[in-house]
Amino acid sequence: MKKVIAREKLPELWKSLSAQGPLFLPVQEGPVVLFQQWQEGAKINLEATNTAVPPKDLFLPREETYMQYRCKGKELEVIPAEEVKPAVLFGVHPCDLSAVELLDKVYIEQDPADELYKIRRENTTVVALSCTEPDPFCFCNDFAINPADAPGADVVAHLKNGSLLLEAGTDKGKTLLKQAEDLLEDGSGQSFEPGEVKTADFGLKLEGLPENLKNRFDDSAWDELYKSCLGCGVCTYVCPTCYCFDVEDFGHEAGGERFRCWDSCMYGHFTEMAGGHNPRPGRKERIRQRFMHKLQYYPETFGQIACVGCGRCLRSCPVNLDIVQAIQTFGGETVEQC
Ligand code: SF4
Ligand code: SF4
Repeated sequence: MKKVIAREKLPELWKSLSAQGPLFLPVQEGPVVLFQQWQEGAKINLEATNTAVPPKDLFLPREETYMQYRCKGKELEVIPAEEVKPAVLFGVHPCDLSAVELLDKVYIEQDPADELYKIRRENTTVVALSCTEPDPFCFCNDFAINPADAPGADVVAHLKNGSLLLEAGTDKGKTLLKQAEDLLEDGSGQSFEPGEVKTADFGLKLEGLPENLKNRFDDSAWDELYKSCLGCGVCTYVCPTCYCFDVEDFGHEAGGERFRCWDSCMYGHFTEMAGGHNPRPGRKERIRQRFMHKLQYYPETFGQIACVGCGRCLRSCPVNLDIVQAIQTFGGETVEQC
């Protein structure tokens, strides 16, 4: 199903979709663009290359109460988490959609699945937005992502010649376009063919990288690579493929709750154990963990590198330490096994 809408009619589309449930879009907030729930007067920015923070918090919120319980004498009543309403996430670029698919492998395809994440994914219709002009930090081509297409999306949208072309890729996508059919015109005569969009070439050598890294845990290159890191954790919060969280229970006589929030392997307490031992006591061990996880451990488990080349860690790290440096340091060199 292919539809088209003139750009000047988009505010009507946002209004119509948001009347049916929460609608999240890239919104200009001062100097940054963030995914936010639509409201009248929001400055929607569909031209932005990437939002400052990826849309992963739609599925894995920064903080949430996982469940609550009440005690009545010896009885324990479990109060389930709030019901998740169907929502629309509009304007996700292909790199961020690929990152969500990486998170799905962890949160849905493992047994047991993470129920809250799974329900949010099932209840959200994702409209991807193709890119026409990547910025100098984007390098998704290295991970076989075409910025001009998003085959896994419910709907793929393209901004072309003053219009937005919308093509449904799933039943959820078709339902969404039907819900807005009063505003949409038939797009079957329009060209939806994805073009070719080139992203930055940092000369990365990815072939054999996970296997090579297996033998380089104790490599002296880590002694240099980590040195500038401040341990601020920004790289993990802005990364669409970082997914670690912390869980805490807060209890009292009458009940309590289980709470979780994003955590970062860049922090000292992340691996600190109850007895005080910390297997990653310094920034070197933490930086190594971050890059080994993305470039060796995740690929070993799921068969692909856990980076989508969104460029956020390149844009955001205050000391310019990013995954490109790690790949340049360790990529393309084979280390013989002892
Ligand atoms: S690599 Fe950069 S962004 Fe990440 S913790 Fe270190 S200083 Fe912060
Ligand atoms: S490691 Fe950096 S470039 Fe790769 S997905 Fe994360 S933030 Fe984006």
